[in-house]
Amino acid sequence: MSSSTTTNEALFERAQRTIPGGVNSPVRAFGSVGGTPRFIASAKGCRVTDTEGKSYIDYIGSWGPMILGHAHPAILRAIEKSLPLGTSFGAPTEGEVLLAERLVERVPHAEMARLTTSGTEATMTALRVARGITGRDAFIKFEGNYHGHADSFLVAAGSGAATHGHPSSPGVPAALADLTRLAPINDLPAVEKIFQNEGETIACVIVEPIAGNIGCVPPVPGFLEGLRRLCTEHGALLIFDEVMTGFRVHPRCAQTLYGVTPDLTTLGKIVGGGMPVGAVVGPREMMEQLSPTGPIYQAGTLSGNPLSVAAGLALLDELAERESVIYPTLEASSARLVDGISAAFTDHDIAHTIPRVGSMFSIYFREEAVLNFEHAKESDAERFKIFFHGLLDRGVNLAPSPYEAAFVSESHDKAAIDETIAAVREVAGLL
Ligand SMILES: *Cc1c(COP(=O)(O)O)cnc(C)c1O
Repeated sequence: MSSSTTTNEALFERAQRTIPGGVNSPVRAFGSVGGTPRFIASAKGCRVTDTEGKSYIDYIGSWGPMILGHAHPAILRAIEKSLPLGTSFGAPTEGEVLLAERLVERVPHAEMARLTTSGTEATMTALRVARGITGRDAFIKFEGNYHGHADSFLVAAGSGAATHGHPSSPGVPAALADLTRLAPINDLPAVEKIFQNEGETIACVIVEPIAGNIGCVPPVPGFLEGLRRLCTEHGALLIFDEVMTGFRVHPRCAQTLYGVTPDLTTLGKIVGGGMPVGAVVGPREMMEQLSPTGPIYQAGTLSGNPLSVAAGLALLDELAERESVIYPTLEASSARLVDGISAAFTDHDIAHTIPRVGSMFSIYFREEAVLNFEHAKESDAERFKIFFHGLLDRGVNLAPSPYEAAFVSESHDKAAIDETIAAVREVAGLL
């Protein structure tokens, strides 16, 4: 198992023999940029180190959870403290109660929480609750929004799917996909039309309040408010999928940032502090429809796993205790980074737009604003490839796809940001 002498190339070669594509989640493959994925041996703060000992400033952040940086001492301590007590009991624990209480405290509309093992399970559960409560089967999702890999959501599902050219997947029954109604992001009239035509069949609208799986596409003013109004008018539930945005863009989640209250919220990523977790939160009368209090079934052997809960609690407590420092710091360093990148591109006459909300952003090689998936796809993917590899060669690790958000953490200090901007300046000269 010694990896110190193993190259990325050799490991990838070996991985492909036993793991489809050599990766356990398709976005980790370099399918859309070419080349060899870096096999990560360790990470600390804003840097990851690969199996060859090369270190990179990391903007993947495990796809979101690492808002305070990798291997944060408070999180490691919490896991270390929990570990000798046992790793899973299949019975309730105090930690689960504490984490549920934190979520109820900090997600404004939440009165109860159900913990799962992944974001995928959280969105699956939320959809089932919406269908169960309304007695309706159809629902609306947005093109390019990603809600995990459950069948109903694998219809025009963003990054992984978009990158690999399978906007929907074989194995998803057409009969099920038929129940998924699609609308473009930020297009309220399209949603209105669906409701007018078949409002009485729509159980819910599920939306990423900030689209984060086709790059970063913030909501246009009035969009989320309009969804809230339409759902209320037509007796459908509004589900905010905040698996990515929850505690990332605001200490009380994106719903607080935009002042729109959903019926159910799904969470994951940050909520587990880098360990496997997901959660559905909402008002008591909806949440109590879940078994065992209600008839809507949902379960999980490792749901509320003690190590995940310990890590999640440590991160959420750190975020709450230092909220007045962490979020302004993230805002300032992310703004400085994006301004620096933008200036470098402008100096080299490179068409670009870099939408950002707090510490999530994405770089599109396109002049005009990106408001939906169609626009995102018009970004220059060839240019992104060169940009991506140019940065990787210079020790900066972006997500290996033009359709992914980048994440800044508290550990991205001035030196790391400056180093990144300098690398971007060099690469901009090659584009
Ligand atoms: C990551 C993500 C999911 C899926 O979460 P997993 O833990 O990977 O199953 C769902 N929704 C959104 C918005 C996500 O970003």
